[in-house]
Amino acid sequence: MRIFLRQLADLCEKHRWQSKWVLVASHAQGHLIGERLVREGIGWANLRFVTPLDIALQIAGPRLSASDVGLLEQECGPSVMLKLLLDLPTDVPAYFRLLADQPGMAEALWSAVCDLRLAGFGANDLLATSFASLVKHAEIAAVMAAYEKYLLDTKLADTASVLLEALRWVADSVTRPDDLLVELPGACTSLLERRFVTALPATRIAPRKGRIPELLESRRSAWAFPTVETCDMPTESVTDARRLRWLLAPAKAPEPVGDGTLEMFRAAGIEAEIQEVLYRIASRQLAIDTVEIACAQADTYAALLWEKAQRHGWPVTLQMGLPGVFTRPVRAVLALCDWIESNFSADCLIRLLQSGDLAPALGDDLSSTAAGRILRRSGATIGRDTYRSSLATQAASDRSRAKDVELEPERRAYYENRAMQAERVATWISNLLTGIPVTSIADDVALGNLAQACSSFVSSATTQCLEDAAGATAVVRALDALKPLADLHRPVRLVLGLVRNCVRDVRVCIGLPRPGALHVTTLANAGYAGRSSTFVVGLSERDVFPRGFEDPVLLDAERTALAPGTLLTSRDRVVEAVHERIERLANLEGNVCLSFSCRDLRNGREMFPSWILLNAHMLIDPNAGLSYQQLNQYLGEPVSVVPKEPENALGDSGWWLSLLRGAGPASMPHVLRAFPGLDRSAKAEAMRNGLGFTAYDGFVRQAGPALDIRTSSQAVSASMLEAFAICPFRHFLHYGLGVDALENREENVDVWLRPDERGRLLHSIYAQFLRELRQESRRPVESDRIRLRQIVKVSIDQLRAQIPPLSESVFARETAEILRDLEFFLTAELQEPNRTPVGLEVSFGFAASGIEELLATPEPVTIDLGDGHKVLLCGRIDRIDRLSDGSFEVIDYKPGRLYRDRYRGTFAGGKLLQHALYSRAAKELLLKVDPAPHVASSTYYFATERGAAQRVSFPADLDVSPILRDLAEAIVSGTFPQAICDDDCRWCDYARGCATDGVEQSAAKFESGDAALAAYRRLLGHV
Ligand code: SF4
Repeated sequence: MRIFLRQLADLCEKHRWQSKWVLVASHAQGHLIGERLVREGIGWANLRFVTPLDIALQIAGPRLSASDVGLLEQECGPSVMLKLLLDLPTDVPAYFRLLADQPGMAEALWSAVCDLRLAGFGANDLLATSFASLVKHAEIAAVMAAYEKYLLDTKLADTASVLLEALRWVADSVTRPDDLLVELPGACTSLLERRFVTALPATRIAPRKGRIPELLESRRSAWAFPTVETCDMPTESVTDARRLRWLLAPAKAPEPVGDGTLEMFRAAGIEAEIQEVLYRIASRQLAIDTVEIACAQADTYAALLWEKAQRHGWPVTLQMGLPGVFTRPVRAVLALCDWIESNFSADCLIRLLQSGDLAPALGDDLSSTAAGRILRRSGATIGRDTYRSSLATQAASDRSRAKDVELEPERRAYYENRAMQAERVATWISNLLTGIPVTSIADDVALGNLAQACSSFVSSATTQCLEDAAGATAVVRALDALKPLADLHRPVRLVLGLVRNCVRDVRVCIGLPRPGALHVTTLANAGYAGRSSTFVVGLSERDVFPRGFEDPVLLDAERTALAPGTLLTSRDRVVEAVHERIERLANLEGNVCLSFSCRDLRNGREMFPSWILLNAHMLIDPNAGLSYQQLNQYLGEPVSVVPKEPENALGDSGWWLSLLRGAGPASMPHVLRAFPGLDRSAKAEAMRNGLGFTAYDGFVRQAGPALDIRTSSQAVSASMLEAFAICPFRHFLHYGLGVDALENREENVDVWLRPDERGRLLHSIYAQFLRELRQESRRPVESDRIRLRQIVKVSIDQLRAQIPPLSESVFARETAEILRDLEFFLTAELQEPNRTPVGLEVSFGFAASGIEELLATPEPVTIDLGDGHKVLLCGRIDRIDRLSDGSFEVIDYKPGRLYRDRYRGTFAGGKLLQHALYSRAAKELLLKVDPAPHVASSTYYFATERGAAQRVSFPADLDVSPILRDLAEAIVSGTFPQAICDDDCRWCDYARGCATDGVEQSAAKFESGDAALAAYRRLLGHV
């Protein structure tokens, strides 16, 4: 670089008033070179840094605009290509059309067509024999012809059109024959650019550059690169960093001088690597605007560097910018696309609301996370219509509780507020849905309408920082670029794919180096800024050079057959990448530090250094061998995020960690004194590890009386009592702290109904069918199958409207299973002619759902505990049958398979109470129809095909009071230990928030005989 800069300086000196054109690959490159000249005190005038396309536009632009021809936005290219592909006449054989909905298809096709056009190919120039398949040739030729026509019809010009037009008028070029033109190698990237640059009238000056021993030229160099004047580098008094020029031939390098200008390290993770770079900058007191960090893996390192620089308040510029997905607006729009594609799944929307990426205007008292909770509580499922009905039901239920005169005023106000919040969420979702032009994912949608919906949605995204604001602007701009294709009507999934691709490619916070700021760039652009210290990070073997993947559209063999050396193959690309990166390394100046991360912490893998480090090691130590073992020895221990010296720390945590390195447990008192939070958690940990049952294990004395089921005016359900026996800690979280577990149920395209939804459907069909028979005072007969099927159909249709299936085949499979289960149920009923259902879905303790059931009552059933206390019980008994001998049987349907172990014993330590509680309730409820009812048994009935109509019956005269007494005492004593059996945690929604060793600790404390757990121990003793 220095040689080239010197050449430019000489030109400026010698040809001060003459126009001098410097052809560069990008505006950034031109800007950096120009700025360097100035910084190095070289005055220049009439020096223009331009790309070949800049000159072409200056020539062709006025002519194109005189003919009303505009420029095609590059971002539109993939969408245009996909539209043209799908619009091809049916007589064109389909090849890529069969894969049109695959992610990346449009981009790959667009890239291949650009390559062909920039190599000078038109639709008619493609030889069929060059392609692997005639069908493929026919389709690519057709799509290129369609594209050429599209450009003509829409009066648009792409890069190839501009270059061709400029070539036609090159005699009128802005360059004059006596202007000087120097071309930096790499400025021309296509054959059309080369032809155009070659045709430009100008006096060409061969650029000078230093020779890099053993560096291979790519095949493209033969035509794409200008004639270059290479100079040998002096071998005397070169610094060690400048000896990187001999990276490919370390044995031929001059002797190292050991001036410390070239160093290397390895780190235990990317974060540690970046941290080490920052430590070195700070500890050497380098001015940050004299430092450049060149990243071999741009996106991963750029994001982390940006985040760390922000944290430490270091100004930073990123030449490659940040991927848009690091910003909230981009993530929000992508999540919106996912939501639409999931057929408006409530789980998807809840995740988005709780992600923090969204800031819906719901009022100051209702955050996005709270809106997610309301939505979850409403039981919304899937489909556009689910939100209106479920949130309205939720609001109505809250409002009815708000009117309950038995509740305290604060509680009533709480429910009223909840109802209003549910209504606000409903209104917000309704407005959101109104803007989304998708009613069913099976339909077609206009790209323009969907892009507009996404664009409007951006204003709902959170913008907390500079990057978010840039992300919001960039998304809107990217979506605007789709406007020329606004009327493209395609299936929703395909159009969503186009929107996603366009949004995902967004980059933000791109910046060139500026005074006072650290500069971060890619390895391919390293050194242009000419900073005196360069850290080259991410030099692991996997990531420095691109992997040689073939282009999926134009294969290597086809490229070679069409235009050998012009259309680059996968191998050519690798050779070019190696050439480019080695050249950048060879041109670095000042101090250079090379590093890599030897651990992939996310995937728990070891990482290996690139051969660049191996060769650099030989430059530093000519006696070193080419072995990784020797390199590792030289590099020493991988650095960690902890700085070696406390004074190098960039923040408090680094300072502490550095001080504590190797200090051992003796340092703990100092740490705990400085961090009271840590002190408290250490104490809590110690208490949890002991054998006593403590406040840190769920001993909350004050909560006991507040949660006492004997004094509460609220009725309790059988399932709530059973759940306490399984895990008192969960009971405390839910009823004591009011903490609801976050459900994380992914929508599964292979499932229509979840087990609970399916169970509810079966229960309601059983009840409706048997009620109709009860109305007619008869038992079922074979011909009732027709009626049962009708009920099934209507019920399923209604449920389908609320919960649209994601797949018709899944829906068909599940409805067939449901029908089979119900046929099976009917067959079992036919074999029991002597029983009569007298009660169906008999609710007690809460208002019935609109269906009149004689035995039902809104009053709870009172259970006397026999010690002067009572408990109010609520619930719903699935069925009460009168048997032929006049006695009654209480039945609870179970839709699944019978696992005998769960029904072993009588009460299973309080985990199996429903049979006893319901038979106790039934005795009271049946008084309405029988003055002295004899309830003989209480049965769990596995009524489906999987349950094989098995029954597990218990006698109805069991005394449940002693168990309830112990259970109530366990609650009142304030002891809420975690479950003591792993099995109980398996399906628990709180599992993610529970200590992993909690069950083990809880079991140990349970066994230890701590008196506090006496009542709970007695409860579990009721087997
Ligand atoms: S995960 Fe286990 S211990 Fe934790 S709340 Fe659930 S059942 Fe209790």
